[in-house]
Amino acid sequence: MLRTVVFFCFLVGLTPVFALGPVPFEELFYKGRAVAFYGETDTPKHAQVLQLFKSSKLAERMAQLTQGTIRLRTNLNIGFESCGKPNAFFDSNRAAIVFCVEMIELMMEQARGDTEVAAKWNREQFARTFDGVIWGIFLHELGHAVISLNRIAITGREEDVADQFAVYYAINFLEPRNISVVLPTIWFFNRLAKSSVIDAENTEHVKMLMADEHSLNDQRIYNLACWAIGGKSKWGTFAADYVGLPQERGDRCAAEYAKLDYGIKSRFKKYFLPR
Ligand SMILES: [Zn+2]
Repeated sequence: MLRTVVFFCFLVGLTPVFALGPVPFEELFYKGRAVAFYGETDTPKHAQVLQLFKSSKLAERMAQLTQGTIRLRTNLNIGFESCGKPNAFFDSNRAAIVFCVEMIELMMEQARGDTEVAAKWNREQFARTFDGVIWGIFLHELGHAVISLNRIAITGREEDVADQFAVYYAINFLEPRNISVVLPTIWFFNRLAKSSVIDAENTEHVKMLMADEHSLNDQRIYNLACWAIGGKSKWGTFAADYVGLPQERGDRCAAEYAKLDYGIKSRFKKYFLPR
């Protein structure tokens, strides 16, 4: 499985094709830089995974993509380290997007447990899916980072806005370069949903899920599929079929995405660098 990681690290060569347009007034206020880092690891295995990311310059490519597409008020650190549990998060105290090495382990675990894909996918499909999931999770965290650092006003749940930002970014910035992000991310959330079936009898568990700031994984997969099909993603129809998006929701997705598109453009567009 580690060889797969080595392979996917080289798939997305994100040399920016984004031209930086001169916006002198804005640039006076948005001088933040995206800075890659590789933090501490807990185990030799984590150190090995971190070394693979280091050698493929994954954090640098995430920073480069951010730097080439987004205006930031202050610096943003982007990197990998051991956290003690599978997670990826924006830490406002460190102004950092932290991608935990344990998250990669969780992805591998989910792929191993998915007997359907294990039988069908070849090495390249595994690699492309892992690659897409990593970028999908990164874009979600980038949404949080941009909201926080640039002090963007939002209403509603920030977790849903971060998902919307990730889908918008993926469709507009990565899919034109034939990089699939939304579908792999749906696969991962779908696996997480399947591996933690809600126990309706366990009132404490249900309470924790309902009180959480994230939408349920089951809801997130339908949201992502709906926005993918509504946003005319190349993989939108496939995503809708994959999750079995009900026709009733599917019929509303074009209008739903139009509002998302308008919302992201209204709130975030001045922070996107001209392409
Ligand atoms: Zn989040």
